[in-house]
Amino acid sequence: MKLVLGTKNQGKIREILSLLSDVPQLELLTFRECSFRDIAETGQTFRENALLKASEISAETKLAVLAEDSGLEVGALNGAPGILSARFAGEKATDQQNIRKLLKQLEGIDWRYARFVCVAVLRFTDGKELIAEGELRGYIAHEPRGTHGFGYDPVFIPERYEQTLGELGSSIKDMISHRGVALGEIKRKLLQFKL
Ligand code: IMP
Repeated sequence: MKLVLGTKNQGKIREILSLLSDVPQLELLTFRECSFRDIAETGQTFRENALLKASEISAETKLAVLAEDSGLEVGALNGAPGILSARFAGEKATDQQNIRKLLKQLEGIDWRYARFVCVAVLRFTDGKELIAEGELRGYIAHEPRGTHGFGYDPVFIPERYEQTLGELGSSIKDMISHRGVALGEIKRKLLQFKL
């Protein structure tokens, strides 16, 4: 089965390719092999945005699509940046700008609890959908550490760890991450489907 990865985020693509590498009979296509236009994320929830991306990209490419919407929710910021995580510091903000804004808003605040959330949707060409959600709980560090990963990884310390995801690297992140949990669930459901 051909499956288009419904994202243009390099960090996500790297992780999804690694997380799905053991699924047999799956030909994974990125936007480089199968182009699609940018989707406006107009939903109010991760789930709405993931469903929107999956259906629009599938309608355009006429192929099955794996889309996901994800982000960081910080307790002391009432769940922000949430679905706006990619655009926290502005429409075209870089990861560094988003991190700087986050650390600024948490200055002087000891309660650093946060979680990553990921909702993944696999939409088949007949419109059937598999949906799964994952979370990773942790804390926001006081300064960025480490060079692995993307987005907020350098300032996110998972529960039961002392290092940031930026320091821990991809093999540990794949085992514990919100994306790893959501895609693990999608894989289990997919294998029951018999490709
Ligand atoms: P979107 O799903 O395209 O709206 O973007 C999600 C945004 O959330 C990313 O651009 C990152 O800023 C953040 N994010 C989601 N997952 C991760 C992760 O695994 N590590 C670090 N940041 C993440």
